Amino acid sequence: MAVFDNADFDDHESLHYINDVPTGLRAIIAVHSTVLGPAAGGCRRWSYANDAEALTDALRLSRGMTYKNAVAELPFGGGKAVILANDAAPKSPELLTAFGRAVDSLGGRYVTAEDVGMSVEDMREVHQRTEFVSGLPQSGHSAGGDPSPWTALGVFLGIEATVKARLGKESLHGMTVAVQGVGHVGGQLCKLLHDAGARLLVADVNRDNLKAISESLPVEILASSEILYADADVIAPCALGNILTSVTIPKIKAKVIAGAANNQLATSADGARLSALDILYAPDYVINGGGIICVSHEYYGGKSEDEVRSDVEKIPARLQTIFAEAQQTGRPTNELADEYARRLIAAGKK
Ligand code: NAD
Repeated sequence: MAVFDNADFDDHESLHYINDVPTGLRAIIAVHSTVLGPAAGGCRRWSYANDAEALTDALRLSRGMTYKNAVAELPFGGGKAVILANDAAPKSPELLTAFGRAVDSLGGRYVTAEDVGMSVEDMREVHQRTEFVSGLPQSGHSAGGDPSPWTALGVFLGIEATVKARLGKESLHGMTVAVQGVGHVGGQLCKLLHDAGARLLVADVNRDNLKAISESLPVEILASSEILYADADVIAPCALGNILTSVTIPKIKAKVIAGAANNQLATSADGARLSALDILYAPDYVINGGGIICVSHEYYGGKSEDEVRSDVEKIPARLQTIFAEAQQTGRPTNELADEYARRLIAAGKK
């Protein structure tokens, strides 16, 4: 399995492989950059087909965190952890403590939090062994707790901005939004969209999550294989990455793609494919930064919920800047976002 030659290696500062025999924990911690601060990014627990797939996921996600944190103007570099889920090593307090030990051994170069497959309660266990963790249970009205409501808020505001830029509509009232994945972020996003008067199409592979959303909101359920190609104004990907590809993009009817999932584009060239079809793509790490804004304010302390909200409310303006440049230059939004992030990181090196 190539590491330095991996197409997604992108000059990571370091990679750490964790193997804890007593608990069966196998994990990879990827530290992409500490230029702007400790490498911060959540921990994902996922069942990967093989080690190479887990490595690629860790590398792509941690690089995305470097860019996301830079664009959100946070004092964080970028990193990510993946725990390789398997039946022989169930999530247990001991396994989470072993993960906490691994995070602690990096001495603060990596700061963890929850991502897909991990919860606030899990972070509490991780916290038994390390201070380098955020996304812990919230106390009072200070910043903290589950980041997903903040991610959902930022994505909602970002959808409004993207719809305005591409479709010229001031409001989401009467718009049809297709939400792929109604978990932590997607579920809360649906509530915000419904309150704004949008019509909702949803899909999920988890029946419990589909049941919960259909019992709380008027939604039309589509097959997971159909949601990307729905007759909708907006596609909001809120499941996993690598969904926008040379195969899927030509079949998409919506003119706006704006959602929470990380690494939505399979390759950078897929951003150009969307642009060529006049589909406006909200770069994932720009629109989904609400959660890490909350994580950052919790980690460094002294910030209130209101301060988190006002920082999350800056997301639409960042998107508008990228969209305006895309309109002037005809260039894909993902490329412009990457350039913007790299400029901020280069400025931080000085
Ligand atoms: P989650 O696990 O709570 O929800 C994901 C949902 O997607 C689940 O209900 C799952 O069943 C569903 N899903 C998986 N594969 C699917 C498929 N093929 N079709 C339809 N549904 C499918 O995760 P989450 O916390 O809501 O995060 C969603 C996405 O947003 C992830 O890509 C995550 O990395 C990203 N993200 C989350 C946050 C956050 O604050 N939680 C922040 C930034 C980015």
